[in-house]
Amino acid sequence: MELEFNLKAYFKTSADPAPAMEAVAALFEEANRTLLTKGAPEGQGALVTEWQLGEDRIELTLDSGRYVRVHDAVFRLKKALAEKLGKDFKIGIRGIEVESFVIQVPSERELKELKVPYIRSMQNVEGGIVLELEVGEADMKNRVPDRILTLLEEKIEAAKYGAKAEHWNLLWQREPMEHPFTEDPTQAMMKEGWLKRGSSRGQWIHGPQSTKVFRTFEKIVYEELLQPLGYREMIFPKMVTWDVWMKSGHAKGVYPEIYYVCPPQTRDPEYWEEVADYYKVTHEVPTKLIKEKIGEPIGGMCYAQCPPFWGFVAGETLPNEEIPIRVFDRSGTSHRYESGGIHGIERVDEFHRVEILWLGTKEQVVKAAEELHERYMHIFNEILDIEWRKAKVTPWFMAQEGLLGLAEGNVVGTTDYEACLPYRGEDGEWLEFQNVSINGDKYPKGFNVKLQSGEELWSGCSGVGLERWAAVFLAQKGLDPENWPEEFRKRLGELPKGIRFL
Ligand code: ATP
Ligand code: ZN
Ligand code: MG
Repeated sequence: MELEFNLKAYFKTSADPAPAMEAVAALFEEANRTLLTKGAPEGQGALVTEWQLGEDRIELTLDSGRYVRVHDAVFRLKKALAEKLGKDFKIGIRGIEVESFVIQVPSERELKELKVPYIRSMQNVEGGIVLELEVGEADMKNRVPDRILTLLEEKIEAAKYGAKAEHWNLLWQREPMEHPFTEDPTQAMMKEGWLKRGSSRGQWIHGPQSTKVFRTFEKIVYEELLQPLGYREMIFPKMVTWDVWMKSGHAKGVYPEIYYVCPPQTRDPEYWEEVADYYKVTHEVPTKLIKEKIGEPIGGMCYAQCPPFWGFVAGETLPNEEIPIRVFDRSGTSHRYESGGIHGIERVDEFHRVEILWLGTKEQVVKAAEELHERYMHIFNEILDIEWRKAKVTPWFMAQEGLLGLAEGNVVGTTDYEACLPYRGEDGEWLEFQNVSINGDKYPKGFNVKLQSGEELWSGCSGVGLERWAAVFLAQKGLDPENWPEEFRKRLGELPKGIRFL
């Protein structure tokens, strides 16, 4: 099966088009050879395959492939017809009415029905999928059919690749080390009274000891990396609204993992009185009633940390001398609704992260990433002294495009830092504990930020997950500071006493 579009529609005319019969015939015939082939490879333009006149309309059927799509073709024809009929016959074109819009898409796999607006029906057939759309002139103008096709093609690709979500390419690996400590660090910390579970899933209350370890990590990042490289601290919002995620691209897929935020419908105490009264009498919080009284979600809790930064520069033009801009944020928690495996501190629903962000020209952004990689190397080899590796990871859909991902010379993408967790055993899965990403022009484009020189503006970001650093460091070194590397202890000072219970 080939990708094919088929459109049956008619142009509404201001008068009976019968007198223009021959002109219309000539125009369609000519268009099939010229107007509807412009921009398409030889023989792959759109075609008017049938047409006829009605009393108040010109009906037609259009077929096309990928290039000049029927919804583009129909607007080209509308313009040409309006000119011709207006000038020679004083007949106006009032608009386009769609009778049917069908796309057939090749696919080796069946797909389940898409639940989106504009789809009248979707059928799996031999060799592909047939979609019937419910679109009007304005929808065609807004390129709705293109977006639906893109969505469908993404799903077909995803079905082909299944669970294999990313390509993984080893870049560097430290030589294997001995790890005498083999306990699960979360269990060990609980035993030692360093932390306790919070009341929410995947949430911990850190006692003075693990808190000191986290703060020491932050201090190391600050002194060894942020300060020498000239990063300035900022405070990014931690509640993120949909418009931010629309611009950052997260609105395309973040839904299963976010914590949603709903404001009260009003702050009028009277409106909430029954909720408070219910609680006072029953000692139960009436969550169903609350659900009725709150508004729709306005967004969610911080997920990726850097998107809300972009509001600061959105719509602006940066002076040439101002770049590269290097900033970081450590002002609050990130929240993710993680699935099953949240048994320890390495995968939690509430976590702490230093987010490092830089923007500039392509060269500046690539250089800034290299500088970070160097500093991280120093930190993990000389200060934390852990066994780790780094790998370039590329989501399959990027690798597939060939332009991005693993293609030669490509610099856009993510480098994951991973470490072994000895308690998981020799062949246990390694844990990603941070990453460095070069995001190309994605964010500057999404948030409309420009550079004075007119050069393309790029950006990058790096997320230092403190829980992940702790999970890795403590899994490899244990909880006894006696066994920690000297360089780390120097920066830590004394581990504070914990809180004891009877
Ligand atoms: P994973 O594949 O382990 O879920 P991820 O690819 O979702 O990680 P990113 O979205 O790249 O992670 O987030 C950047 C960093 O944020 C991670 O390297 C990690 O340090 C931290 N992080 C992400 N999710 C969690 C979590 N659930 N608990 C603790 N830290 C996290
Ligand atoms: Zn980021
Ligand atoms: Mg994740």
